[in-house]
Amino acid sequence: MSMLTIHSPEIVETDEGVKLQSTFEMDGSSDILWYEVENKYRDYLTVERVDAFVVGLFLLAFKKGYDIQVLGSISERLYYTLNMHLLPLTAEVRGYTPIKIHCDNLVADPLTNAGGVGTGLSCGVDTFTTICSHLAGECPNDYKISHFTFYNVGSNGTLGGANARSLFKKRVNLVKPCADELGIDLITVDSNISEILHMGFYETHSYRNISATLALQKLFHVYYYSSAYSLKYFELKPGSPGHYDVFNMSMLSTENLSFFSTNPYETRVEKTRVVSQYKPAEKYLNVCIVDGVNCGGCEKCVRTLFTIEVLGKLKEFSSIFNLDNYYKRRDKYIAKILAYRDSDDYMQEIYEEMVKLNFKTPVYSKLAANYLKMRRIVWR
Ligand SMILES: [Zn+2]
Repeated sequence: MSMLTIHSPEIVETDEGVKLQSTFEMDGSSDILWYEVENKYRDYLTVERVDAFVVGLFLLAFKKGYDIQVLGSISERLYYTLNMHLLPLTAEVRGYTPIKIHCDNLVADPLTNAGGVGTGLSCGVDTFTTICSHLAGECPNDYKISHFTFYNVGSNGTLGGANARSLFKKRVNLVKPCADELGIDLITVDSNISEILHMGFYETHSYRNISATLALQKLFHVYYYSSAYSLKYFELKPGSPGHYDVFNMSMLSTENLSFFSTNPYETRVEKTRVVSQYKPAEKYLNVCIVDGVNCGGCEKCVRTLFTIEVLGKLKEFSSIFNLDNYYKRRDKYIAKILAYRDSDDYMQEIYEEMVKLNFKTPVYSKLAANYLKMRRIVWR
């Protein structure tokens, strides 16, 4: 049977910093997957284990239908959870041929670990909800965030390359002031995983992000992956691992590092409420899907701003959004909520909040909603 073979990682110095990289072989040719950090984080690069590379590459092996041969050491726990739980489930859910990982060097001894607690800092609603609950308040000390991360593993461009890399650098500069104001270190990790995988980001994001974090297993003992979906929407959805991240995170944890899918119960409206009451978010909240700054007019900007408006906090966020663009689209968006809420969980959530808080619906939106509903009936 054909194999995807992964070699032990090595550390290589670069112009930008230092890389943890592994050679892998498939179909008679070889390639290199790498993760790059600043020089000061060099000691945390986990050269002792192939864990990061197995998690980064298993979907590629699935795509080919190949087993994975690991020539270095792998966490015994990870070997067990992948072979006995995550890989069989992934094969079933995505309709792939089942694959296995083979390795002669299973290691159960934990690595020396700096005890860091990390989470990604995208400055979106999910991130800030995680920050609110894990930086201040009642969170035990060993579970309080000590480091923020920002990765180039697909969120800046699914297929990677120069454009994604330049957007990555631009976004690092946008989130850095937030990390500085909160007094937390920001670790950036660049990687070529997008160029290697050639797969959609939405269907692979959990594994890409966790893979980069496993490259830093000597730093982190806990890592929070901010969930986009409340657990009440749990579903084994073929193209969306985010819908079952609570399972993924447990299955990707090792003897050194525990992953948690955070905010499992809050709905998007509840998260937005938490974030709208958190002062630093007024300066740094960033939800736009169009560009580095909040355009105010894209789907995510409008959705977030309208929720904030219903919650009575629009004024507080007026300096970081283009409100002219928002007002151009607002009434139409409200009409869509009224017309489509039956078939859209989020629209239903926000509608319930509008009713609860006696939000005054514009006449235009009511009329437009009737039109949209009628059009829907006619088209059926
Ligand atoms: Zn936008």
